[in-house]
Amino acid sequence: MTMQNLVMFKELGLSDEILLSIQRSEFTTPTPIQDKTIPQIFEGLDLLIEAQTGSGKTACFAWPILQQISANKQEDHKKIQALILTPTRELALQVSGALYRFGEFLTNQVSVLTIIGGESIAQQTLTLTNGVDIVVATPGRLLDLIGQNVLSLSDIKFLVLDEADKILDLGFAAELDLVLKEISGVRQNLFFSATYPEKVLEIVKRISTKPLHLKIDDVTPTVENISQRVIEVNKDNRGMLLRHLIKEEKWKNALVFVASKVAAHNLCEKLKKAGVNAGTIHGDLSQPERNKALSDFKERRIDFLIATDVAARGIDINKLSLVVNFDLPRSPADYIHRIGRTGRAGEIGHAVSFISHEDQEHFYLIEKRAQIKLDREKVIGFELTGEAPEKVRGLEPIKGKRKSKKDKVRELNLDQTNKA
Ligand code: AMP
Repeated sequence: MTMQNLVMFKELGLSDEILLSIQRSEFTTPTPIQDKTIPQIFEGLDLLIEAQTGSGKTACFAWPILQQISANKQEDHKKIQALILTPTRELALQVSGALYRFGEFLTNQVSVLTIIGGESIAQQTLTLTNGVDIVVATPGRLLDLIGQNVLSLSDIKFLVLDEADKILDLGFAAELDLVLKEISGVRQNLFFSATYPEKVLEIVKRISTKPLHLKIDDVTPTVENISQRVIEVNKDNRGMLLRHLIKEEKWKNALVFVASKVAAHNLCEKLKKAGVNAGTIHGDLSQPERNKALSDFKERRIDFLIATDVAARGIDINKLSLVVNFDLPRSPADYIHRIGRTGRAGEIGHAVSFISHEDQEHFYLIEKRAQIKLDREKVIGFELTGEAPEKVRGLEPIKGKRKSKKDKVRELNLDQTNKA
């Protein structure tokens, strides 16, 4: 590919040094979100960007930030200029990896430090003392370092909240709050989120007066590239069905989502016993163990990675062709995030969800929100048996353990009807 092919990227305002890295990545055209946001980022505007993972969103902020920091670099300047906050350690490592790759051809090199728990705090402190340009961090460890006075956020020119909804969903609201209090001065704020619930908008309002809200019409390009299947099966038969499909349909590798760490461990052990090359990634593993599981999977030393949502959020695995929802995700947004691990950047991907009687209603909700309607499949020998339990008919809260107001009213009405 010649640099001429990169004219569409150049028109967005990207420099030749950045174009060299794009050329090496073999990207041919900007993704819709890159088209729409990069010129606005160069304008210096605060943006609120509705973007799914898999849409090429990392490059949207990485390219303009690297380019501008490099162009204005003064050797004696040791203050942090950009802070990128992410919900999980894996996403932080992934964003840093993208920054290294995209910044490789810059004449004035831009230094990047990943600040995450589970890794040496002494090493992070030392690097900070020598000066870094960009910090990519999860909120918890960043706060530890702020507390130790080894880090100042007073000179930040760019603040990025990546997957802002997830940062809040994972319970980092208090940490985020404290981090934001440390940030002062004039800067550009960029918010990326798949959804914009009220709690995200509140944070946005506090740090930016009038951000421009950009919604990409084609927000789920990767989901459109994904063939989605739903297979009805009793909960107890899911393990056997998975092994059956691996064998019969010759599944070579897949990311398999489960609801808990225990479920991940149990399923992995069962698969291993059946001769399937499997591993796990979940929150109970140490950071080096999580990194190893991921690299083993990426480099095909293991074929099936059994994951919980927290650990798998935002993970970009090249050419991952199949995602299995062994357990359904709790929210429709998570469904999109999960299946967005496959079919990335124009590739065709496959997603298979197992649903039992108990999951029917929840899956309708996912379909409604994702604006899809899928046929239920049956696999011979694994057909659903038994009756739908009472709670599927609307008594239990669908999303979580705590009952919503609606659930309570519904229960009360039913109770009164029963008494009548
Ligand atoms: P992200 O949404 O940032 O996780 O990116 C998803 C994937 O798309 C990553 O593997 C990127 O390397 C890739 N990507 C980013 N920009 C482009 C592009 N313009 N064309 C093709 N692939 C891209």
